[in-house]
Amino acid sequence: MKAMVLTELGDMKSNPEPLHLEDVPKPIPAEGDVLLRVLTCGVCHTELDEIEGRTPPPELPVILGHQVVGVVEEVSGLETMPEIGDRVGVAWIYSACGECEYCTSGQENLCPYFKATGRDANGGYAQYMTVPAAFANPIPQSLTDSEAAPLLCAGAIGYRSLRLTNIHNGQSLGLTGFGGSNHLVLKMAKHLYPDTDIFVFSRNPEEREFARSLGAVWAGEIEASSPEKLDAIIDTTPVWKPIVEALRNLDNGGRLVINAIRKEDVDKDYLLKLDYPTHLWMEKEIKSVANVTRQDVRETLKLAVEAGIRPEVQEYALEDANRALLELRQGKIRGTKVLRIGS
Ligand SMILES: [Zn+2]
Ligand SMILES: [Zn+2]
Repeated sequence: MKAMVLTELGDMKSNPEPLHLEDVPKPIPAEGDVLLRVLTCGVCHTELDEIEGRTPPPELPVILGHQVVGVVEEVSGLETMPEIGDRVGVAWIYSACGECEYCTSGQENLCPYFKATGRDANGGYAQYMTVPAAFANPIPQSLTDSEAAPLLCAGAIGYRSLRLTNIHNGQSLGLTGFGGSNHLVLKMAKHLYPDTDIFVFSRNPEEREFARSLGAVWAGEIEASSPEKLDAIIDTTPVWKPIVEALRNLDNGGRLVINAIRKEDVDKDYLLKLDYPTHLWMEKEIKSVANVTRQDVRETLKLAVEAGIRPEVQEYALEDANRALLELRQGKIRGTKVLRIGS
């Protein structure tokens, strides 16, 4: 089968083509696994973090990709669901132990044995992949292969972030960065909290315009002051300046939710601007978001159908994965990038 394989880590600035198109053996499903013929795979900023070593794969070579939509071609072992021919999705959660205190309390995303798709196991930048049957999520029929892919990561982690803000209808919400995840958060928030005003912070004028077109009441620069203090803010940027600026824009008792697997060190000195009375006093909170649970993924897909959420997608061929990643790195984002692999 054809796959885009990562063999070596490094900065994409010096190596803009880290993935290589290779012919590799089709994977054989282990007991309890399903074999998927991949249809589409979303491209995520986390792949840049893997390639550049901020969350490195434990073994190389590896096949990236954790927003995978595919058709079940083979099932192995006693699992009855899903069945051959079913269309399923694989998210960042490839497996968890099922037995620890986190797994047994609805927090399998925090499991110490958590395995990530496309990092700890081969993912969907390929024609085929295997996954434990219990971690293959049914895809609702009304979503196309390309629409479903971004919901599996950008959507599901955005949904988890939105839940972790603890806001209720009518409270104000800020979104810092307006790429693949936050544009879906805006759509979900508008459905779940129709009286909530949404404020978007982005350095990119196109993203600000996009946010307004989707119903944000205000959109400004990262360092701008929102017209009112906000009850919650979700940050999806890879850097530190937006954290400090978001804390300043939070209202008393407000919560900042950081939806980023890693932060880059480029502007870490910006944290020295942190002033306790301005940024933290009055019971402001900061919470990070780690991974997703299967429940997050399944509820996201259901919500997308109910709310008529159709992610904005840009399709690329499998062999153009390097270009898609590079454009993502350069901030050329409008909606989410998806590799079209099979049909
Ligand atoms: Zn992702
Ligand atoms: Zn566990």
